[in-house]
Amino acid sequence: MSAPIVFSGIQPTGRKHLGNYIGAIRQYVEGQDRGDPAIFCIVDLHAISVAYDPAELRERLYDTTAILLAAGLDPERCIFFRQSDVREHSELTWLLSAVTSHGDLNRMTQFKDKSAKQELVSAALFFYPVLMASDVLAYKATEVPVGDDQRQHVELMREVARRFNERFGEILVVPEMRIPEVGARIMDLQEPQRKMSTTGGTEAGTVLVLDEPAAIRKKFGSAVTDSGREVRRGEDKPGITNLIDIYAVARGIDPAEVEREFEGAGYGDFKKAVAEATVELLAPVQERYAELRPDQAALEAILAGGAEKARAIAAPTVAEVRERMGFGPA
Ligand code: ATP
Ligand code: MG
Repeated sequence: MSAPIVFSGIQPTGRKHLGNYIGAIRQYVEGQDRGDPAIFCIVDLHAISVAYDPAELRERLYDTTAILLAAGLDPERCIFFRQSDVREHSELTWLLSAVTSHGDLNRMTQFKDKSAKQELVSAALFFYPVLMASDVLAYKATEVPVGDDQRQHVELMREVARRFNERFGEILVVPEMRIPEVGARIMDLQEPQRKMSTTGGTEAGTVLVLDEPAAIRKKFGSAVTDSGREVRRGEDKPGITNLIDIYAVARGIDPAEVEREFEGAGYGDFKKAVAEATVELLAPVQERYAELRPDQAALEAILAGGAEKARAIAAPTVAEVRERMGFGPA
């Protein structure tokens, strides 16, 4: 089998959290050795779909860039760039909107969840999945590593690709989704029914990649558990199940092994252990981040180099799509 073309994006909104690290970033780092190419994008155009501040967007863009590099993305082994640098994403969004069903967009749970929290429900929030489809389809990616919350959006982009191909000829590739076996959906520590989120979660329940050890310990210490007393997974135990998943990933073991390790232990001791494991998981990333973040010019140079490589792949795809759709000279 030939190597997959891997593509994934991450928003520079707010501050990135443990859910992003476990569900997405960890997979990116692993994906860069399998993907040929592996393409990772800071999706700043997606970030304007909710209320935001332009100056803060720039700051967070650099923060997110440095976090990904600190986590192990290597611009020599992957294509790493800023979405807004490659105009093809925007153009393709409009073109593909012609083969995207309004009814499908209306069914997206992310749109429903996020629009409930916005004063202005922007058309950008509604169009988010079309932009995401364009991100992936522009590179003819075969594999999209994401967290569990993006299932519906990947399903939609597959449908968009299929519909385009049926209508205009086989150009686009229908991508496969890749979600991690453990940790595809890390939950908010305070509200374990909801996913940990950059923009929508509780502050005390969201562990940030850049949190100090003291803050990490405090957040796990006050994590909501349940009335039982056993450290085991269960539908009725979302809080403990979430902590088991986090510990399993941080230690690189199976969730079943975690249950065995903590048989007979109380919730208090278990929470402390999860906090320590998380502190150790994030420490090397934080150390690297502190070295990389100050040199903004170096971060810019990496993103610019990535954009050039990205454009070289996306531009021919968009040219093909334009041609098939009837644009340009005969
Ligand atoms: P927002 O809530 O504002 O959409 P976010 O926290 O979902 O922000 P994104 O940048 O939209 O962050 O997502 C980046 C990647 O992280 C996506 O692949 C997404 O599926 C994954 N991800 C987000 N939250 C979680 C989570 N709680 N657990 C696992 N993966 C997650
Ligand atoms: Mg998201």
